[in-house]
Amino acid sequence: ERVVAPEVDEAERAAEAALRPRRLAEFVGQHVVREQLELVLHAALARGGVPDHVLLSGPPGLGKTTLAMIIAAELGTSVRVTSGPAIQHAGDLAAVLSSLDEGEVLFVDEIHRLARPAEELLYVAMEDFRVDVVVGKGAGANAIGLTLPPFTVVGATTRAGLLPAPLRDRFGFTGHLDFYSSAELEQVLRRSAGLLGVDLADDAAAEIAGRSRGTPRIANRLLRRVRDWAQVRGDGTCDRAAARAALEVYEVDELGLDRLDRAVLRALCVRFGGGPVGLTTLAVAVGEEPETVETVAEPFLVREGLIGRTPRGRVATPRAWEHLDLAAPGGPAS
Ligand code: ADP
Repeated sequence: ERVVAPEVDEAERAAEAALRPRRLAEFVGQHVVREQLELVLHAALARGGVPDHVLLSGPPGLGKTTLAMIIAAELGTSVRVTSGPAIQHAGDLAAVLSSLDEGEVLFVDEIHRLARPAEELLYVAMEDFRVDVVVGKGAGANAIGLTLPPFTVVGATTRAGLLPAPLRDRFGFTGHLDFYSSAELEQVLRRSAGLLGVDLADDAAAEIAGRSRGTPRIANRLLRRVRDWAQVRGDGTCDRAAARAALEVYEVDELGLDRLDRAVLRALCVRFGGGPVGLTTLAVAVGEEPETVETVAEPFLVREGLIGRTPRGRVATPRAWEHLDLAAPGGPAS
């Protein structure tokens, strides 16, 4: 429920789908991956065949699902959507695979979470366009090899390193998505504002972009919150003042830190003099589980260079003190 969470929740999915770019040309940023993909797809189209299987890796909210849909659109085909956790048994995957039409795209989100038997079935299907279906039970059980029409798997993962080599090797193309620059996020925001019919001033776009943690999903979410504020408290225009006021209500600061992030940072600096302090102690100080601090707050604080992890514990960097407007101990007297 954090407004800066990189993950999507169910209630948000429809709002998100409305803002998805439909074609490669509309997809903002990620120039390297975009150009590589364009070549892969257009070459396949020109040959009249299916492209290599595509693996997309990168943090949540950067556009992996969007690209999977775009790949299908560029190929002029339809996409079937499933995910690692949704496939409980290899049989579930066999059923999906054997119902694919020729040339279709099968999008497997969180592919690193596939169970081992399903994973094995998938890489055989990707390599040989064949699936073995077991018919019957016990001693009378029989495996029947079923030939599949050619198709393209688009796998998405936040953890490419967790993918077993045999599966990873079946992908002829891997694209890694990186965090977006502020300028790119502004472009995402202007596009979204257009689709939502929101009058977004340039300085407001910059203000929101700077707080979006390099993530289009967060940028779009903050835009919706600013739009709400402008509607209810303002006169409908999303200018810089509206953006600042709205994001203050949601406690998202200039760097994109929320309340928990700041609580962790403040505890580290003020209670523990900048550390080093152990994760558990730090978590107790902010009234959270160590796991929450470690997985929810820390990654972004580390990425922003606000805290460091050392063998003796967490430490605040000079930037942390600066961000909290505090004088660092031992720093120059001011
Ligand atoms: P992921 O699958 O990596 O978690 P999504 O593809 O679901 O991310 O993207 C999240 C949201 O961000 C979507 O609403 C999408 O429209 C938007 N988005 C992501 N990447 C871009 C981009 N490059 N250009 C425009 N919008 C984007």
